[in-house]
Amino acid sequence: MDPSIDAAREQVAEASRRLAAERLVHGGAGNVSVRVGERVAVTPTGSALRDLTAADVAVVDLDGRPSGGGGPAPTSELSLHLGVYRSRDALAVVHCHAPIATALSVVLDELPLVHYELALLGGAIRVAPYATFGTRELAGHVLAALEDRSAALMASHGVVTLGSTADEAVERALVLEFCCEVYWRAAAVGAPRLLSQQSLDAAAAAFAGQRSIEDMSG
Ligand SMILES: [Zn+2]
Repeated sequence: MDPSIDAAREQVAEASRRLAAERLVHGGAGNVSVRVGERVAVTPTGSALRDLTAADVAVVDLDGRPSGGGGPAPTSELSLHLGVYRSRDALAVVHCHAPIATALSVVLDELPLVHYELALLGGAIRVAPYATFGTRELAGHVLAALEDRSAALMASHGVVTLGSTADEAVERALVLEFCCEVYWRAAAVGAPRLLSQQSLDAAAAAFAGQRSIEDMSG
């Protein structure tokens, strides 16, 4: 296999172990993928993410066919990952059952603007309607909920986040879990006060400014 797909398999394994260490997944209830050109490195089906190594990571093409000589079978949520790569320019996808975000997915239609860090995800986070895991129907619901966002909640299921690297997608899953925890704790003591879209846009501009300063300083 060429070095870039090997690097992608390593990224997937590392991000999987981090999701487990951050308690965003339990057992095999989560999956990670990284796209390299026309191929996708993706977590295997039915493995504990906490112990995943690069050798465990499956490789498929954009139609889901095994690529690069056999290896493990890909995650049951493959159609969700491939649907993202067909319609978005993301290079990494994380799906997990983060506990607080999943709890809110049971009661909310949308996570509102409770914290400015939501600017990192594109705004208020939609909750995709429920459908059976692993189905194209679920993938369709989630892709619609992801429009103009890098994260979505999945009703009575979990979350999905996109990134330009697996690490960025994991960071976004942590941001989403944090914002969900803020909403949960705030709603327990009163009616959450929400930010205006204007405040969120200002936060997004401030984040963009931070990034360009970091770029200039290398
Ligand atoms: Zn799931």
